[in-house]
Amino acid sequence: MGDRPLATGAAGLAQWRALFPILAQPVNGRPLAYLDNAATTQVPLPVQDALRRFEQHDRANIHRGVHTLSQRATDAFERARGELERFVGAGAAHELVFTSGTTDALNLVAHGLSTAGISPATIRAGDEIVVSGLEHHANLVPWQQAARRAGAVLRILLPDEQGQLHADDLARLLTPRTRVFALTACANATGERPPFEALLAQAAAAGALTVLDAAQAVGHGTLDVSALACDFLAFSGHKMYGPMGTGALVGRRDALERLEPLRYGGDMVVWVTQEQASFAELPARLEGGTPNVAGAVGMAAAAAFIEQVGRQAIDEHVAALRAHAVAGLAALPGVTVLSADGGPSAIVSFVAEGVHPHDIGTLLDEQGIAVRTGHHCAQPLIEHLGLGPTTRASFALYNTHDEVERLLAGVAHALEVLR
Ligand code: PLP
Repeated sequence: MGDRPLATGAAGLAQWRALFPILAQPVNGRPLAYLDNAATTQVPLPVQDALRRFEQHDRANIHRGVHTLSQRATDAFERARGELERFVGAGAAHELVFTSGTTDALNLVAHGLSTAGISPATIRAGDEIVVSGLEHHANLVPWQQAARRAGAVLRILLPDEQGQLHADDLARLLTPRTRVFALTACANATGERPPFEALLAQAAAAGALTVLDAAQAVGHGTLDVSALACDFLAFSGHKMYGPMGTGALVGRRDALERLEPLRYGGDMVVWVTQEQASFAELPARLEGGTPNVAGAVGMAAAAAFIEQVGRQAIDEHVAALRAHAVAGLAALPGVTVLSADGGPSAIVSFVAEGVHPHDIGTLLDEQGIAVRTGHHCAQPLIEHLGLGPTTRASFALYNTHDEVERLLAGVAHALEVLR
């Protein structure tokens, strides 16, 4: 069924939308327009069914039991791993490690590269880490801590006034001491889609390990990690129609081998004495403790759902919704849209002269329109752009152009009331 235009295909958007019962639930007496998908998408019935099936029939702890349920749960967990690897284009040189989300995955990388233990630290005193200035705190703060821990220098690839990154700026920052370059596939605060393919390749050519935060790309943009100069790719299940608190780190095996585990304990060891332990191979070495097994199963079901709808179709649909919203918002008096020309993405973020975004968000909520307001966990970027907190609408496959019209009318009304 995939890759027919979502809004006009024979299957039609309504059919997909019907798989998300929460969307039919009125909020504040009004139909819900859920436009906070960059934070968390809703979960369709096929994913809920997969979760329920696992909990009703297969639930048990994995890897440690000889009994049938444990083996079934282990099979389901490992099958989910394989399906998600395929979903992001991971090849024989890659491994996928389950995490609780993008934040967890990025902490695993930043901590793992800057801490000595099973293996020597990759980032050491005097080394350099380059992070883009578009990042969510999850892809900045762990690097600040890594630099502090290792005695390394953190350098920021700042965007220009439009919020765009440039290859020549990166060229000036890369040196033989650059160990890591970390970048987002899409800035969650602005919707800017940087040329991450080229920037990652440039950093890799300079000898840096490369980290891509794909939190805002995995739910629609077709990601093929094998085609990228990418050592570590992080994403969240709850931003791709999967269960809350799920995610993954996909990495080249030789890069993952460099990571010192964040968690020591069961399931990540081979042999333990009172004095010491020997450690399991990847990916188990980085998955100490009981993982979210149902979450992994649900994430794989979400990936299958995305493929069924069609990644290109979703991508085109959310980009069209964004273009519609950008044009409408930019036409409102005193409204500035961030990264208006930021390339295809699912996020539109704006400021309105003389009006606080929290007030806009509150008035929109009264009309059943859910948006997010504030710094969007990207305070340094928002401050760099000099615009202050914003109102952000973010789209998913089930959103409609009617909802964009409701957003535009709601913002226009809010501006009238608040000014
Ligand atoms: N990176 C980006 C670009 C994000 O948008 C987010 C969340 O909004 C995160 C990282 C953190 O993701 P999580 O809260 O799922 O760990």
